Amino acid sequence: MVVAGAIVEPGREGDSNMYDIIIAGGGPAGLSAALILGRARKRVLLCDAGPPRNARAHAIHGFVTRDGTSPTEFRRVAREQLAPYTNVELSGAFVEDVAGEPDALDVHLGDGSVRARRVLVCTGMIDELPELPGYRELWGESIFQCPFCHGWEAQDRRFGLLVAAPQWLEMAPFLRAWTDDLVVFTDAKFPVPEDVRARLVSAGIGVEERAITRLIADGPRLAAIELAGGDRVTRDILFARPPQRQTALVTRLGLGLDESGYVRVDARAQTSRPGVLAAGDLTTMMQGALVAASAGTMAAYALAHTLTLGHAPAPALTPERAAAASARPPA
Ligand SMILES: Cc1cc2nc3c(=O)[nH]c(=O)nc-3n(C[C@H](O)[C@H](O)[C@H](O)COP(=O)(O)OP(=O)(O)OC[C@H]3O[C@@H](n4cnc5c(N)ncnc54)[C@H](O)[C@@H]3O)c2cc1C
Repeated sequence: MVVAGAIVEPGREGDSNMYDIIIAGGGPAGLSAALILGRARKRVLLCDAGPPRNARAHAIHGFVTRDGTSPTEFRRVAREQLAPYTNVELSGAFVEDVAGEPDALDVHLGDGSVRARRVLVCTGMIDELPELPGYRELWGESIFQCPFCHGWEAQDRRFGLLVAAPQWLEMAPFLRAWTDDLVVFTDAKFPVPEDVRARLVSAGIGVEERAITRLIADGPRLAAIELAGGDRVTRDILFARPPQRQTALVTRLGLGLDESGYVRVDARAQTSRPGVLAAGDLTTMMQGALVAASAGTMAAYALAHTLTLGHAPAPALTPERAAAASARPPA
C-alpha cells in the first residue's frame, strides 16, 4: 500500500520501482512542485532530508495567506495537503546522486537506489555564516538578509547594514524605507568611495569602516556591534547577506552555474544535465518563499507536459509570434 503524505520507504511500495519524478528538497519549491505533479497524476517521490533554510526564522512573511506562519507550520500544512494525492510519497531520504539518462535515471538515496524518469532539484542554498562571534546565534533573530521578509516587524528600530562589497552599498538608501536610523558597516573589507560616502552621509546614513570584533546580544536580540578598539555602536537589527554555496547534490551532479553561482536553468527549469530540472533558491538571487513556490509550480507544469506529451510546452506567445500568427491567412 502506498502511504501518501507520510514517510515511507521509497521505491518499496507499489508495483514498480519507477517514479515519474523524484524531487530532491521539500521546501516551498519542492512542495509546490509535488502538489502540481500530484494533481497531474504523476507518480512522485519527494525527498527532504532537512533542515529548512529558514529554520532559524520565527515566521515566513510576505507569502499571501501565510504571512506570519512559522516555517514548521508551513511545511506541516503543505504535507497535510499532499496527503489526498496517493500518487505522491514523502521521504526523509537524502538524495546523494543521480545517474543515467532521461526516462531511466538511477537516483541514489542514503539507503539504496530508486528509478525515475526525471529529477527535480529543489535543494535551496546554504548560507555560509561568518565566524564573527555572536553572528550565528543572532541569525534569524536579529540578523536578516531581506527587508521585504523582516523589515516590517523591525521598522523604525536602529538598523545596521553589513556589506561585504561596494555594490551592496546601494542597499543602504533602500533600507531607509523601514527606518531613519541606519549605519552601514564594511568590517574593514573595502574602502567606501568618497562620492558614495558623501551621498550616504547627506542622506543621514552613518558609515563605519572599522573591523567588527563581535556582535553583542541581550538575550536572543542584538544589542550592539563592537568595533576594533572597543567602541560599540548600539543596534537592534542587522541586515546582511552572507555568501551562499550550493548543496552537495548540485556539486555532485556538476550542474552548470551562472556567474553568481546559481544553477543555470532555461524557461522550463531544465539544467545542463538532461533529465534533471531545478527550481527555487538554488537558481536565483531573488530568494523568497513565494518566489520559490512559484518556480516549483512552473517547473511542475513543464514536467507534466513533457512526461504526458513527450515534449515540453510550446514557447510563450511573444508579441512577435502573435503578430506572425495573425498575419497568416486562415487555413
Ligand atoms: C533567516 C531566514 C528568514 C527568511 N524569511 C523569509 C520570509 O519571511 N519570507 C520569505 O518569503 N522568505 C524568507 N526566507 C527565504 C526563504 O526561506 C527561501 O527563499 C525559501 O525557503 C526557498 O525555498 P526552496 O524550496 O528553494 O529551498 P529551501 O526552503 O531551502 O528547501 C530546500 C530543502 O532541501 C533539503 N535538501 C537539501 N539537499 C537535499 C538532498 N540532497 N536531498 C534531500 N533534501 C535536501 C534541505 O534540507 C531543505 O529542507 C528566509 C530565509 C532565511 C535564511
